[in-house]
Amino acid sequence: MAKETARPDVAGGRLTPAQYAANFADIHPPLARKAALVEANRCYFCHDAPCLEACPTGIDIPGFIKAVATDNVEGAALKILDANIFGGACARVCPTEVLCEGVCVREAQEGRPIQIGRLQRYATDDLFAKANGHPFTRAPRTGKRVAIVGGGPAGLACAHRLAMLGHDAVVFEAKPRLGGLNEYGVAEYKVAGHFARAEVEFILAIGGIQPFTNMALGRDISLVVLRREFDAVFLAIGLAGVNALTCEGEDLAGVHDAVQYIARLRQATDFAALAVGRRIVVIGGGNTAIDIAVQTKRLGAEDVTIVYRRGAEAMGATRHEQELAQTNGVKIKHWARPRRLVGREGHVSEAEFEYTRLDAGRLVGTGETLTLAADMVFKAIGQVFVADPLRENGKELLELESGRIKVDAERKTSLDRVWAGGDCTGGGEDLTVRAVEDGKRAASAIDRALRG
Ligand code: SF4
Repeated sequence: MAKETARPDVAGGRLTPAQYAANFADIHPPLARKAALVEANRCYFCHDAPCLEACPTGIDIPGFIKAVATDNVEGAALKILDANIFGGACARVCPTEVLCEGVCVREAQEGRPIQIGRLQRYATDDLFAKANGHPFTRAPRTGKRVAIVGGGPAGLACAHRLAMLGHDAVVFEAKPRLGGLNEYGVAEYKVAGHFARAEVEFILAIGGIQPFTNMALGRDISLVVLRREFDAVFLAIGLAGVNALTCEGEDLAGVHDAVQYIARLRQATDFAALAVGRRIVVIGGGNTAIDIAVQTKRLGAEDVTIVYRRGAEAMGATRHEQELAQTNGVKIKHWARPRRLVGREGHVSEAEFEYTRLDAGRLVGTGETLTLAADMVFKAIGQVFVADPLRENGKELLELESGRIKVDAERKTSLDRVWAGGDCTGGGEDLTVRAVEDGKRAASAIDRALRG
């Protein structure tokens, strides 16, 4: 991360403690019982429910909503968690408007889908709050040991399913805490408080999962050794690199990688200690761009502008996320790409963009420029897979495809006894719910392989 300077426009403590608390509180407060019952009773319990088809983890949505409607909240939670052990986090971070709620029959009929995400949260929160032990049991131990590299949703979903099936899972996580993006990468107001940590504890409570943190592949452990010492390996190492802007001024102080700043924010014990500029420019068009823009605004920045090189429809952020940014006072400028960052005394002071347009389907610059004053610039232009830990003597140990690990439908890699899932593999959107499904599928495939 670029170093901070003593510039007066980049400072912490812009707001009162009460304002910080309000700005970073849960964005979707949980449904109360009465509201949940009313919402659940709006459901048609469709026979060929399109919502179920749209859920990557195949949660029995009409089934759990029916359980909520009959006040069987624990039964609802168990249906959810059986399909998706991260049902609590997914209820908070899933882009439901483009998944289950986007295809809900009620959405097509009246433009008001069943609030599936909020009902899912109602049920899972209730189960966590009661803290009545872990609801799933382990099958008799098989004596097989599986190494899981990466303690995010894919890795922990795989570990949990393997533990249920009677295997022992050893999880190696490079960061100090488990949880992956739920712990380090999601906007604080989406997974507020310490929910991500509580959920990890809940998952580990099944037993048979041994976590080791601060253990990075390629530094503290190697794939060659893991394959030798374990019966199987599951790689869920995510995307460790970030794209570069490759424009002049990228190394100036005040130019930050959005992912790193969000991680810092999520680990902060005091939001007032986080230095934030008055004028923020965010470069990018995905959910990370929205997350950093909204959070810096909520930290007290006066002026926050997202600049994206194409139109609104091409942004990786959903329409709902774009609206969230705008209702938080964030400006979004389309059709402009970064040309250079200008500094004063070594610190960024302006960001210069060139307007763009499409020419026969190709993005080209128009030659016209736009300059925005900025005392902080955030790069949110995507993360990339880093293959270095998977190389031995300069050669990749397993096959890659489009820059990520190549896997088949069972999440098996080209290397014997090695599976992979989550963002480090290609073939789908980088969503928590997809990562969970990858972990689940890989665990089933590993189980079949280990039982011969
Ligand atoms: Fe209920 Fe909508 Fe799913 Fe039908 S599509 S089962 S109405 S949530």
